[in-house]
Amino acid sequence: MRRPFIAGNWKMNLDRNSSVALATNIMEKLKAFGAAQDVEVAVCPASCYLDAVATAVDRSILGVGAQNMYHEPKGAFTGELSAAMLLDVGCQYVILGHSERRHILGETDAAVNQKLKAALAAGLVPIVCVGETLPQREAGKTLEVIRTQFSGSLAGLTGEQMATVVIAYEPVWAIGTGKTASPEQAEEVHLDLRKIMADCYNNQIAESVRIQYGGSVKPSNAADLLGQPNIDGALVGGASLEADSFMGIVDKAVG
Ligand code: PEP
Repeated sequence: MRRPFIAGNWKMNLDRNSSVALATNIMEKLKAFGAAQDVEVAVCPASCYLDAVATAVDRSILGVGAQNMYHEPKGAFTGELSAAMLLDVGCQYVILGHSERRHILGETDAAVNQKLKAALAAGLVPIVCVGETLPQREAGKTLEVIRTQFSGSLAGLTGEQMATVVIAYEPVWAIGTGKTASPEQAEEVHLDLRKIMADCYNNQIAESVRIQYGGSVKPSNAADLLGQPNIDGALVGGASLEADSFMGIVDKAVG
């Protein structure tokens, strides 16, 4: 049984006080909600506020993740953060290969793969994002693109490592646009990801890996998306910046 996992990606939003206040608010709501056992929940603040947020919350109730990291353990890499640094400030998770990093900052599958291996070696839980652009979908290439991203970004993992990875299917055309993949469109890709993992590893691993959907998830569409058999949670951008809308999605993961 895969435990649903809802993560909020705050991107380059909020300041220190509002990051701490939002995380604390979400944590208090989770406590009152009594949902901690049924659903895993995390927030991913800007890296400069990770320490403050991780210190403010009970991380056994609300997890904390980073939005990116660098694969090298230390050295002359100006502006970068290592996996050990993220662990040191209280991160349990790291988002890797988000489409904004792939498409705006030029991150390749090979770079994502290096980061993934470093994150796993350090003991972080990686959330690895894959997803097609609109032209790729319209050209009928969605599954081909996802397979290429999977084999590049997730190459060379042992079965044991693969079982600890979280995958986020995020169609690029649905991120921050208000357009959402239909539950059927999302389910088709999630099912295909399980087939890929069954081929590369085995059925047991394919069935154990959690696959989040991301792309304009909000309380009003979360139930239909999360109700699909192969959708195990959500990676939420815009709707995670407000406690009630984020909790409205968490609520659908439990129910
Ligand atoms: C995201 O940034 O991963 C995301 C899915 O954003 P939004 O929910 O705003 O589309």
